[in-house]
Amino acid sequence: MMWYVVTMAVLAVVTVFCLIRSIRSKREIAPYVTNLLIWLFIPIISNTILAVSTGADVLRFCYTVYFISTTVLLYYFAQFSLEYCNFRIRHPAIGYFMTSIMGLDVVSVALNYLWGHVFTLEYVTTAEESGYVFQSLWYHKIHLLISAALWMIAVVAFSLKTIKTSKLYRDRYITILSVFLLTSLWQVFHIVSNEKIDQSIIGMCVMGVFIYIYAIEYQPQALMEEMKKTVLATISDGILFFDEERNCIYTNAAAQFQLGLGTNETSAGFEKLLALTGEDREDSANYQSKILNCTKVEDGEEYIYDIEFHKLHDLQGKLIGSFAKITDNTERTKRENLNRFLATHDKLTGIYNTDRLYDSIRETLQANPDKEFLVLASDIKEFKLVNDRYGKEFADKLLIRIADLLKEKAVSATTRYGRLGSDKFGVLIEKDNYDEETFIAAMRDVPNVGRNLVIPIIMHVGAYEIEDKSMPVSAMFDRAFIAIAGVKHDAELKVAHYEENSRDALLWDQKITEQLDNAILTGQIVPYLQAQVSRDGKVVGAEVLVRWIHPDEGFMPPGKFLGILEKNGMIGKIDQYIWECACRILRRWSFEGRNDLYLSVNISPKDFYMMDVPEVIIGLADKYELDRKRLRLEITESIMMDDIDEKLKTIDRLRDAGFIVEMDDFGSGYSSLNMLKDMPVDVLKLDMIFLKDTAKNERTKKIMSLIIDLAKSLDVPVIAEGVETIDQVDFLVKMGCDYFQGYYFARPVSLDEYEKKNLSVS
Ligand code: C2E
Ligand code: MG
Ligand code: MG
Repeated sequence: MMWYVVTMAVLAVVTVFCLIRSIRSKREIAPYVTNLLIWLFIPIISNTILAVSTGADVLRFCYTVYFISTTVLLYYFAQFSLEYCNFRIRHPAIGYFMTSIMGLDVVSVALNYLWGHVFTLEYVTTAEESGYVFQSLWYHKIHLLISAALWMIAVVAFSLKTIKTSKLYRDRYITILSVFLLTSLWQVFHIVSNEKIDQSIIGMCVMGVFIYIYAIEYQPQALMEEMKKTVLATISDGILFFDEERNCIYTNAAAQFQLGLGTNETSAGFEKLLALTGEDREDSANYQSKILNCTKVEDGEEYIYDIEFHKLHDLQGKLIGSFAKITDNTERTKRENLNRFLATHDKLTGIYNTDRLYDSIRETLQANPDKEFLVLASDIKEFKLVNDRYGKEFADKLLIRIADLLKEKAVSATTRYGRLGSDKFGVLIEKDNYDEETFIAAMRDVPNVGRNLVIPIIMHVGAYEIEDKSMPVSAMFDRAFIAIAGVKHDAELKVAHYEENSRDALLWDQKITEQLDNAILTGQIVPYLQAQVSRDGKVVGAEVLVRWIHPDEGFMPPGKFLGILEKNGMIGKIDQYIWECACRILRRWSFEGRNDLYLSVNISPKDFYMMDVPEVIIGLADKYELDRKRLRLEITESIMMDDIDEKLKTIDRLRDAGFIVEMDDFGSGYSSLNMLKDMPVDVLKLDMIFLKDTAKNERTKKIMSLIIDLAKSLDVPVIAEGVETIDQVDFLVKMGCDYFQGYYFARPVSLDEYEKKNLSVS
């Protein structure tokens, strides 16, 4: 019996060791193993005491504890089996049922003390020995049945799992199942043989140890090997292993592809790697670890690789070999390049965006302290109009054209260019490389878009010669744009150079804009009248011309402020005011019986964008109860630059309402004889430019006479502007001109003066 006690003691120690490790383990299964081992420990103890005890009370107690603990042990074993084999009890009823059966059995066995229905101890005396012998009673069979049921749960769970699982995992289940079955057989043998001591508890302990090993300690080597193999074979990084002589002993599929190695050419791995990196064999022997970037071009495709190389050492620090990892960064690099490109380039044109242009200009200026530079900024005149009229697609094409031109022409090493937003582009150019003629010639090419445009596309360029290279680049471009602001109204391609007074011009713009409202309210804006005279020298009416009598600046002709107001859209305000002044004058004249005189007012092309001109003018004429024929309206042909149909309708509305519409400045701008045919006007005002020319130019004379003839044939009277000399009057009379306006007859004068001097001319 001694051997048994010793064996049990050893097993108890082993079980306690496993128990402690299991309690400390972080694995999910660990609590199940812990429960199981605790309840394994109790039968070991009770069984050992059974082996050495003879007293009835001790034996009864130990048998009771033994039966109870084996039920609980089997219960926890069943639970462990379900968890370990991944059969989670989905229905809580199954769990409650198992727990109830186990609980009932435990209580029943304990009640043996009262009811004596599980077992009894009989004192037997034989020839060799005497003592208490275990006698099984009816409940003992039920206890065995309950144990068998719990046993079955474990066996079924393990058996199913063994069948279902991959063969890589099978040993985890089959070993425990085998030990369990052997132990069970041993137990059956014990029950049948009616031995006092249940030696199968040894089997139980062995099983406990196996359970602990598999559930807590087990590292499935074969599985890990298999996984390592699969991972190496499938990862996108190339992996190569080398022995201490740098002979290649392993390459994965990715490395074979990257290095162009056949499956059987592993041994050439190191040479191929050197060829890819361009490293020297001897040099490469010296480094412990190294990261290299390299590029490979194959079939026109570029591949970008990062190569990591590491030497490996054993615990004693002796070299055992090395490995290389090749990461394919082609896609990532492409993506990064694209993102970098998008962050620094303009999406539409593909040239630098503002931020990048500023940076590169700054870098270029710093790198070339001895050179002189200019910044140029470009702007398309009335780009919004171009956009509205021809559509976004056309406008975009135009911008791309400008960018392409810059790419093509701006080839010097220090030239920088980019798009500054909407229709604005910026260039940095070395003064020595800048030739304005060539530049203008290149820019002149921009509007050649392969079709005739009603709205001409006019580029304005501002140039600023950099004096202080430390000035912010944005301030340099501000100056270039100030230069542009000065030529904004010019109808032709211009390069304007920044001068300090360009800034003054900008300040002037601001001043005019801010002061206009107050100027109207306080009567600084006044109408001046310039008489218009018929062939017989009789004053027939007057043109109303605006003047600003400024408290600081004094008398201001319209040239000083109208352009600014046209640019910022405030022209409508001043025009309406002058129209109303004209209406008021006409009304007063009418009261005074001077119904023979008309007044003609100017309508700016911009007014048509700002308001419904006919509605406003009709409203004013009605307000002052005018004879509409006495308010003449001067419009210039430039209003026909866009929305021609709409404009024609507007002119018709004015004429239908009874106003006389005059075409002002004919011959000054985009005039064509065609325009005369199309525009439904009542009077033609010949621009003074003709008169300036006629003095020296016979051709002009001829053209003028042609225009006058044409107008006559259309029944349109002609009035000549800017008549300054008697010769001009004679010439115009001869040509058949009907009316005259000019300094020869009268200068524009205040209303008072006009009324005093010019109501009749003899
Ligand atoms: P415009 O309508 O062609 O007006 C005629 C301009 O020629 C006036 O200049 C007038 O003073 C000037 N002029 C008249 N006779 C002679 C001459 O014999 N020799 C010379 N050298 N010049 C002569 P002003 O008043 O400076 O006006 C310039 C332009 O400003 C006008 O040209 C007109 O387009 C515009 N303007 C004037 N007042 C108004 C207004 O109230 N509203 C609008 N929208 N434009 C106006
Ligand atoms: Mg006029
Ligand atoms: Mg005019």
